[in-house]
Amino acid sequence: MKINANQLDRGYFKYKDEYDKAAIQTLESGWYIMGKQGEKFEEEFANFIGAEYCVGLNSGLDALILAFRALGVGKGDEVIVPANTYIASVIGITENGATPVFVEPDEFYNLDANKIEEKISDKTKAILVVHLYGQAANLSAIKQISEKYNLYLVEDCAQSHGAKHQEMMTGTWGDIGCFSFYPTKNVGAFGDGGAVITNNKEICDKIRMLRNYGSKIKYQNEILGVNSRLDEIQAALLLVKLSHYEELREERARMADKYLDGINNSKLELPTVRENAESVWHLFVIRTNERDRFQKYMDEHGVNTQIHYPIPPHLSNAYKYLGFKKGDFPITENYADTLVSLPLFDGISDEEIQYVIDIINEY
Ligand SMILES: *Cc1c(COP(=O)(O)O)cnc(C)c1O
Repeated sequence: MKINANQLDRGYFKYKDEYDKAAIQTLESGWYIMGKQGEKFEEEFANFIGAEYCVGLNSGLDALILAFRALGVGKGDEVIVPANTYIASVIGITENGATPVFVEPDEFYNLDANKIEEKISDKTKAILVVHLYGQAANLSAIKQISEKYNLYLVEDCAQSHGAKHQEMMTGTWGDIGCFSFYPTKNVGAFGDGGAVITNNKEICDKIRMLRNYGSKIKYQNEILGVNSRLDEIQAALLLVKLSHYEELREERARMADKYLDGINNSKLELPTVRENAESVWHLFVIRTNERDRFQKYMDEHGVNTQIHYPIPPHLSNAYKYLGFKKGDFPITENYADTLVSLPLFDGISDEEIQYVIDIINEY
């Protein structure tokens, strides 16, 4: 059997008729940017998350960049960010001229709440919490810290659409929740897309202006903005995806449970979920000290695995100027050397999951 780490057409074919209809209706409508589909999606996504406002954007990265811009976080400011994250989280900070201050992860691979306070200085303006691999971070503890030090709390929910901590959705704990609709994400589009959600009308209005050249009224540019709009076709397709969210969530949870119940190999460490938290299983990430050997073995048996992420942002060439070196964040670096993601995507079959389990147990 041959199994890809991800296979996006499976997700499309699941609801092909609905996607086709939505795309064609939008094409035939003659309106492609900033119209009814975008508005409807913003309303439904805000409802789904349980927030007042949603602003559709071009990407998850733009959501992060514009979130900090709207909060006035920039040059001279510091933002706490997990060292173990995708580089986009950090770019969201540095694109505004602010400085990322990295904090090591806990055993759930997310920002360790116990290690934040020692990194807070008089320049700290915000905490960016990332809910990695689908699991909500320790939000109640992190929120307490942000309140104690009067810091903004921004959430990177690019991997956690619909995940909860203590019955409250990720994205609603902080001042702004940032989402990506990149095709592989749990609520994925068929191209680029992103959004912010917030309960703050002022922040919402500001980001609405920022995404559209800084204008509310055409050709009246009140602030310096960018072009970061969610297009009508993506919005229409996302409305279809969102309408099937619960089925897709259950399917992923069932597949993850199958892995958890079925995999039995002492060379591998399986993921765990924090008490009071929930994972929507964006990725199924395991750990092994002999990763190269494991990946080669899986490849030889037709199973493609991936690494999220092999080079932590502080060691990437892009952030060389920050002056970090190997050994500065040993927990993060160890994760980067030992984590590996098993195939998990919309439409993966029971037989495929079972095959992966069987070959892992023979490893
Ligand atoms: C995907 C992702 C982003 C960026 O989203 P894009 O839509 O690709 O710009 C940001 N943060 C995390 C954690 C992500 O996984």
